[in-house]
Amino acid sequence: MLLLSGPCIAGNEWKYVKECLDTAWVSSVGAYVNQFEQMTAEYTGARYAVATSSGTTALHIALLLAGVQPGDAVLVPNLTFVASLNAIKYTGAQPVLIDVHPDTWQMDVRLIANLLEQEADVVEGVCRFKATGQVIRAVMPVHVLGNMVEMDALMALASKWHLEVVEDATEALGSTYKGRHAGTFGKLGCFSYNGNKIITTGGGGMIVTNDEALAKKAKHLTTQAKADAFEYFHDEVGYNYRLVNVLAAIGVAQMEQLPGFLARKAEIDAYYRQRLAHLEGVGFQQATPGTSVNHWLFTFASSRQPALLKALNDNKMQSRPFWVPMNQLPMFSQERYVQQNDVSNTLYKTCLSIPCSVYISNEELAAVADTIVAQS
Ligand SMILES: *Cc1c(COP(=O)(O)O)cnc(C)c1O
Repeated sequence: MLLLSGPCIAGNEWKYVKECLDTAWVSSVGAYVNQFEQMTAEYTGARYAVATSSGTTALHIALLLAGVQPGDAVLVPNLTFVASLNAIKYTGAQPVLIDVHPDTWQMDVRLIANLLEQEADVVEGVCRFKATGQVIRAVMPVHVLGNMVEMDALMALASKWHLEVVEDATEALGSTYKGRHAGTFGKLGCFSYNGNKIITTGGGGMIVTNDEALAKKAKHLTTQAKADAFEYFHDEVGYNYRLVNVLAAIGVAQMEQLPGFLARKAEIDAYYRQRLAHLEGVGFQQATPGTSVNHWLFTFASSRQPALLKALNDNKMQSRPFWVPMNQLPMFSQERYVQQNDVSNTLYKTCLSIPCSVYISNEELAAVADTIVAQS
């Protein structure tokens, strides 16, 4: 089976993990945790980075640190991986689903602007829905597929309406908007190192921020809110959301390979676009102007989506539809969905992701493209 986007373990992973095992520094403290955090801060240009057990737990803590409280509204795209919404629910807040832009497939900032103009006001620095008084505390841009939300427009809206920005940059390590790295625009940003992401630790995540107090608080909350080095004194309800040293060791080895991974992902993207562009009924995600995309997961739209999915999977070329839009999931079907043309649903019904692991060979790429061409 050709994997959709499999991990590439081709660097110093064994060496660094062996060192953890040989020295028994396997658990929640250790030099690799610090090194992984430092490398991430340096690479993204964020001042601080705090490693977590997953992208989902990173998002949960980031939302708490942005001040999201039970009953608040948080704006989030309708087309995202479910973890973005789960993290909002963990805080007791309520997601408000925003449809995506038909070209970039990112949260449509124009819909947010309209919604706020028509229904919100700011009183004493707090944004609320006029009709209900519900606080609109934050917006969570998700940089879907490593393309990026139009951040200039989003940040301007957030500032005008006094919204906190927590970026779900879990798919966007290596992506920039106007030269600035994904995850570093908002108060806090989050990355994921799940097995299919651009780099992996098996499972893991990271919170980045430029605010020292928030970084300290993030470390505190993810380590059971222990407030004394010696005694078991904890000053609030904390979480066990740490990344362990063994996994951070893998992360360091993966970070070393990231530039090579990005280069190969760009080649894969260019190859597929060139092979598929002329096919009838095919469309591609367009990069948001100013964005350098990491090309994490090759996904395109086709009017023949069901037939292509079947042909590819029958040929052992792992291919998947896009996420079911959040408003179609049972636990979120009652949430407010702000849309004009239900773009999320059109993308869901037409898009597919196809094999694009960094280690895929050119022959395998050609075979995938041939299979699609043959079906078209
Ligand atoms: C992968 C992903 C997450 C969650 O990350 P985990 O590390 O799997 O918890 C959250 N949001 C989006 C958009 C993702 O793609």
